[in-house]
Amino acid sequence: MDFNDTPEEAAFREEAHAWLEAHAEGRLGPGETKPLPEARDPEAVKRAQAWQAKKADAGWACITWPVEYGGRAATPIQNVIWNQEEARYRTPPNIFTIGQGMLGPTILKHGTEAQKSRYVQPLLRGDEIWCQLFSEPGAGSDLAALRTTAVRDGDDWVLNGQKIWTSGAHYCAFGMIVTRTDPTAPKHAGITYFIVDMQAPGVEIRAIQQMNGAAAFNEVFFNDVRVPDAGRVGEVNDGWRGAITTLMNERAALGGGAAGGPGLRHLLELTREVEIEGGRAIDDPAVRQQLADFYVRQKGLEYTRYRTLTALSRGTTPGPENSMGKLVGARLRQEMSGFALDLQGAAGLTSGDWQRQYLGAPGGRLAGGTDEILRNIIAERILRLPPEMRVDKEVPFQDVPSGPKS
Ligand SMILES: Cc1cc2nc3c(=O)[nH]c(=O)nc-3n(C[C@H](O)[C@H](O)[C@H](O)COP(=O)(O)OP(=O)(O)OC[C@H]3O[C@@H](n4cnc5c(N)ncnc54)[C@H](O)[C@@H]3O)c2cc1C
Repeated sequence: MDFNDTPEEAAFREEAHAWLEAHAEGRLGPGETKPLPEARDPEAVKRAQAWQAKKADAGWACITWPVEYGGRAATPIQNVIWNQEEARYRTPPNIFTIGQGMLGPTILKHGTEAQKSRYVQPLLRGDEIWCQLFSEPGAGSDLAALRTTAVRDGDDWVLNGQKIWTSGAHYCAFGMIVTRTDPTAPKHAGITYFIVDMQAPGVEIRAIQQMNGAAAFNEVFFNDVRVPDAGRVGEVNDGWRGAITTLMNERAALGGGAAGGPGLRHLLELTREVEIEGGRAIDDPAVRQQLADFYVRQKGLEYTRYRTLTALSRGTTPGPENSMGKLVGARLRQEMSGFALDLQGAAGLTSGDWQRQYLGAPGGRLAGGTDEILRNIIAERILRLPPEMRVDKEVPFQDVPSGPKS
């Protein structure tokens, strides 16, 4: 493991730092946290878009992307350095992770030249925001069990079905959707991937109210929605290939970015401020023991991340240790915010950031692969344990027994 920047990396960090000093709203102060997204506030969306456009105009958006599409062909380690530096500054919440972290890379890899030249630049600049239309009521962890259909009609495809948990659909210009196009093929082999205009007739978006008060995601219904064949990404019935690209990027995007909200540093501050039984919480042995436990896990995550960074810095591909980051990190955030609320007692009921994080934390353990699915991945790909039984893998999708078919 190598913890230090090379001279080139240090120079790049300095360049990033200088731009942020000149253009961001200032550095985050001690105890200050990055704001969590306000999903239903159009003004907040506009502020996020304005910051994204400013970055894009200066060459600091999607920096690993090819120069001809607005990137600067930066290396993965330069991207990590940029993210580390940006995380230190007061900037609007990032509402572009899905489009820029997952869908843009999918278009760049599998899209046609026409799709790349039409969509990539506005996506990078944040002028058009994108959503991911994958999950359905009966297809989440087992995404390939999806039932939304696309049927060819002349130069178009006609889409019918329902997606769910679609983050940001209500402010998105476009989405990327996986559909069933051949029910006679085994489940992975009859899927086709499309770009869909979220304003097209027949697209109906309904907000889902969450227990933390936000409504960041939606149900999206498709009623005879026409998508031109020019919006198809990859070959007919070969959409699983593109979906895998999206999902691989999802893990990297969710594992790598600064999540926003309070962390261990803020919890430590809190234990200095709060009193229990007449003394500072931080002086209580049980509190200290819990803090030490969080610290050890946080350090474990940090050093595991350094292994990834070292691999990137040396130009090699990181190993499967990446899968552990979200599994451990999501649970740690949930436990830390629960502990912060406990420490505050009744006052915790009104503590905005901690409470919001606590109520949002269970979602963090589901999105981008649930705890159980990540454990399966670790068991099979890292520990090389025998794989799970997958009895429906080779069966034509239409013959797989299921509940009522829509
Ligand atoms: C905050 C948030 C944002 C999201 N944003 C989006 C989005 O923008 N677009 C989108 O398409 N989706 C999105 N999702 C959906 C997300 O991808 C799914 O929730 C996730 O894939 C799990 O699917 P599911 O909810 O259908 O649960 P299920 O797959 O039905 O799982 C139910 C339970 O069974 C367990 N389980 C399932 N299979 C196995 C197995 N093989 N072995 C052991 N246990 C198993 C799971 O771990 C879970 O506990 C989002 C979810 C959240 C929470």
